[in-house]
Amino acid sequence: MKDVLVLFYKVQLIDRNIDKLEEQRGDLPLTVEALESKLEALRNAIEEKREFKVSAAAKREENNEKTKELLENQKRAKAQLYKVRNNKEYDMITKSIDAADAEFTRLEKESEALVEQMEAADEEIAELTPQIEELEADLEHKNSELALIKENSANEEKRLLAEREKLVAQMKKSDYSLYTRVRGAKRGLAVARIRRNACSGCQTIIPAQRQLEIRRNNRMYTCEYCGRILVSSEVATEAGEKEEHA
Ligand SMILES: [Zn+2]
Repeated sequence: MKDVLVLFYKVQLIDRNIDKLEEQRGDLPLTVEALESKLEALRNAIEEKREFKVSAAAKREENNEKTKELLENQKRAKAQLYKVRNNKEYDMITKSIDAADAEFTRLEKESEALVEQMEAADEEIAELTPQIEELEADLEHKNSELALIKENSANEEKRLLAEREKLVAQMKKSDYSLYTRVRGAKRGLAVARIRRNACSGCQTIIPAQRQLEIRRNNRMYTCEYCGRILVSSEVATEAGEKEEHA
């Protein structure tokens, strides 16, 4: 009977290891995903600044053209001043010259502001670029780490599954279906052991008399509280559980 109990415990240890591998694999892709979205955000930020620079340069060019046009018109207006015939005409031309002056000032200010904004965009791009390079290197590192872990874990999982298959072949069908049923119901932990006088699955204290019975290793007991298969620490150790987990 003890062999049967050890078998149960061995299968459980393997299943716990397979669970751990799956957990490990689960975390890394998330880390990589987070890095990727951060990188994308930075790249978008740079792209926006570059686009801004292009449109700002176009706007400046447009302002220059307008200024040139205004100057031409103003020059013509100034020449006309010498040919005016009455005050009304003189006032009209003077007004248009003043309006052009105001527009010059406005365009000039706008262009100055654009230059400042373009310089700021340049500075921000210069700041973001090394951050992106750093992230790219980090991501590359994480990706190769992930590939390596996936490979190792796939190999390890294959080995564990082969070992598991051998053990399961030695189990009675009814024992194995009991194991899978309890494992399914108890979130992966089907077999518990006595640890500090309690069930290691639910921490409920086991009466001394029952502990004695379990330690005989001559029949299968289940925890009265959580329903897990309950074995002695001797069985757990024999199945290969490390002392530090005891
Ligand atoms: Zn229990």
